[in-house]
Amino acid sequence: MAVLCLLHRAYGDDLMNGIRAGLPGEDIREWPDVRDPADIDICVIFRMQPGFLAPYPNLRLISSTGAGIDHYLSDPSLPRDIPLVRVVDPDSGARMAEYTLCWVLFHHRDVAFFQAAQARGEWAYKQMRSASSVRVGVMGLGHMGASACERLVATGYQVAGWSRGPKSLPGVENFHGPNGFEAFLARTEILVNLLPLTAETKGILCRRTFDAMPRGSVVISAGRGAHLLEADLQAALADGQLRAATIDAFPKEPLPADSPLWTTPNLHITPHCSSTASLETTVGVITGNIRRFRAGEPLLNLVDYSKGY
Ligand code: NDP
Repeated sequence: MAVLCLLHRAYGDDLMNGIRAGLPGEDIREWPDVRDPADIDICVIFRMQPGFLAPYPNLRLISSTGAGIDHYLSDPSLPRDIPLVRVVDPDSGARMAEYTLCWVLFHHRDVAFFQAAQARGEWAYKQMRSASSVRVGVMGLGHMGASACERLVATGYQVAGWSRGPKSLPGVENFHGPNGFEAFLARTEILVNLLPLTAETKGILCRRTFDAMPRGSVVISAGRGAHLLEADLQAALADGQLRAATIDAFPKEPLPADSPLWTTPNLHITPHCSSTASLETTVGVITGNIRRFRAGEPLLNLVDYSKGY
């Protein structure tokens, strides 16, 4: 049997070479070098067109090259009886924690205010609050959210988290499910979105959510673009319900040059770079799971089709 790879080019040939080096003895084919589709029992895929997996009658394992898997689940022809694994590891969690802490500090310490004052040549003294008085709320307490919470707690913030079911993390007040959402938002002045994209979370960054937070709150989103209703964000920033936002993922990427978001006041944009797993991590997680699969051992980072993440 053979492994078919359709990879992103961000690493050039290094990812393909790494997978080959990590799996000596495997027959590894790079798409479109399929030869006989019946040979393929494992697919390692970055982003695929709907129906991409349909031609492989002996497919037994699907391996994503990234952490987010919503685009696989949106394919109605995805064979949901075949295990789907994704790439997450402590290093990618640490990178997301750095991104989160960086932007929470940026907004808490009002870096944009001081940058603007400097540009005007103005000595604009401003009293700063201590982290221990700032209430940060993290939506999504999985691999990414838990790492972010750990770093925020260590920095002294008052941290709460919102998850689907109850979850206990050190120093983090837990809210969960739809019933816990309003109370979570009402106590949160810096909201961090680290949710996966599912039917329940699509469009969650909307006017209703912003209005449920204290006036002058901040939103930081490194989830998925479809979490965000762009017009609602612009309106909430314009009328001061939100004082600022940082967005890493957008409905359309790259963000089009003529998007009004580029020039929306108090909106900070990053190009979907909050946590890109390193080449070593990506190779290690993908090849490790393939070795586990061949050995009949339990797979790591398995997606739960019933939950959608
Ligand atoms: P996990 O699957 O490990 O965790 C998901 C978390 O979200 C869980 O805590 C889960 O709750 C919670 N959740 C899911 N649905 C709901 C819901 N309806 N209501 C409340 N909570 C919910 O995911 P990761 O932490 O690994 O990744 C999260 C997302 O981050 C990815 O799906 C991806 O979209 C994004 N990401 C973005 C990157 C970027 O560069 N911008 C990089 C990597 C990831 P429970 O614990 O109860 O199951």
